[in-house]
Amino acid sequence: MAENIGKNNEEKKSNYLGIMFKCCNIYGRIYKNKDGNAYVGRCPRCMRSIRIAVGEGGTNERFFSAL
Ligand SMILES: [Zn+2]
Repeated sequence: MAENIGKNNEEKKSNYLGIMFKCCNIYGRIYKNKDGNAYVGRCPRCMRSIRIAVGEGGTNERFFSAL
């Protein structure tokens, strides 16, 4: 339970991330976990889980692809 992982500036922007699930070629949203250090979610169709760390690889891009 690490509560103080940096400063979550992104938290003010939004709590979700738009993402394209390439496994099923559909668009969906994933939401921040309780620690606020990653976006986690599942493909709404095949239930494949996905996790994208906040601050890694540029979360300025509000669009990711899940392979
Ligand atoms: Zn899928």
